[in-house]
Amino acid sequence: MTLTGATGTAPAASDQAGALHRRIADAVADLAPRLLAVSRELHAHPELALVEHRAAALLADVLDAEGFTVDRGVGGVPTAFRGDVGDPAGGPTVALLCEYDALPGIGHGCGHNLIAAGGLGAALALHRVLPELPGRLTCLGTPGEEGAGGKVLLLDAGVFDDVDAALMFHPGDRTLAVRHATACQPLVVEFTGRAAHAAASAPEGRSALAAMIQFFVGTDALRQFVPETCRLHGIISHGGEAANVVPAYTRAEFMVRGLLGEVVDDVTARVEAVAQAAAAATGTSVTVTRGPRYAERKNNKVMAGRLAGHLERGGVPVEEAVLRGGTGSSDIGNVSLRLPTIHPYLQVMDAGTPTHSEAMAEAVVTPRAEQAMLRMATALACTAADLFTEPGLLDSAREEFATTGPDVPR
Ligand SMILES: [Zn+2]
Ligand SMILES: [Zn+2]
Repeated sequence: MTLTGATGTAPAASDQAGALHRRIADAVADLAPRLLAVSRELHAHPELALVEHRAAALLADVLDAEGFTVDRGVGGVPTAFRGDVGDPAGGPTVALLCEYDALPGIGHGCGHNLIAAGGLGAALALHRVLPELPGRLTCLGTPGEEGAGGKVLLLDAGVFDDVDAALMFHPGDRTLAVRHATACQPLVVEFTGRAAHAAASAPEGRSALAAMIQFFVGTDALRQFVPETCRLHGIISHGGEAANVVPAYTRAEFMVRGLLGEVVDDVTARVEAVAQAAAAATGTSVTVTRGPRYAERKNNKVMAGRLAGHLERGGVPVEEAVLRGGTGSSDIGNVSLRLPTIHPYLQVMDAGTPTHSEAMAEAVVTPRAEQAMLRMATALACTAADLFTEPGLLDSAREEFATTGPDVPR
């Protein structure tokens, strides 16, 4: 699939549009020292999902200082924020999304410091260049992407209800305008048994750890009989108290992934049955709690193609769309099923460098990554500018959204 052809890129940008795009690039260059400071500050102080208080305050403060009307804790999520400029009566509402949560143990090993700085930079640059927007520009702080489903919480709270298009990017080892992602259901599995001396009074005990081991063995037995594109994986986060005490309580965090939400729902029900069977086999009880389910992704090709064109004009080559092979999941999928959305990837490190790694945490503060982020901020702002100013572009994005389904590997 080629996105830089007829599907999204204007045959020849008008002189007026070209001048606007150049002014956006200049504005990003002016903002660069501030954006790099934001990125480095976030990187130096990683915060986990839904407790990104420092990051949310920093980003909201910058928007405030630049004239955005800022709503902190939007949607009832304390570390979410929304900054608006413009008038929704005058045209569409276009949102640039920022993520800023980090990972336990490896800090910004997913590079969300760059997502935040890039989304912020795009919003600030566009506001500087088009202070009288025909519509409303929103910079939305979406916390808790790493498992907590911040965007699902914001969608449920109605924060996206008045948004016409959503744009963000993710750093990685390749530059891609379009990529698929799996649906994902996180689970917390808790077994409760009965404590006893593990030797002297073992028959009185009921081991929650034995139940947990049966649960993991049982999910392994299931693995052969689910679609081969599914992934079942988890950790035991609490395994007991002491070797000489029969564990009365154990806890696991588990994930079920598949190409589509409906597949994930089906497999999740079977995983829950495995947990019930493990409890029955060991004389314990079990509670399975479902977290927010991440949806598969529906990339808007009109918007993605436009962004790819801007990236390439900015000197960033874009690879063919990837709709096969292993991927993770993101709560941007849920947004993408509700409104036209793009979530391109930007190469900030050598191909083959794993995500969620120490190597990525080191890569996302290098000059290479920072310069790439600035180019992406420019391309995002230019794409948003086109959605506001080019007649018919948003309509085309909406029409595509209404007539196509999610991207699923064939
Ligand atoms: Zn991640
Ligand atoms: Zn990420």
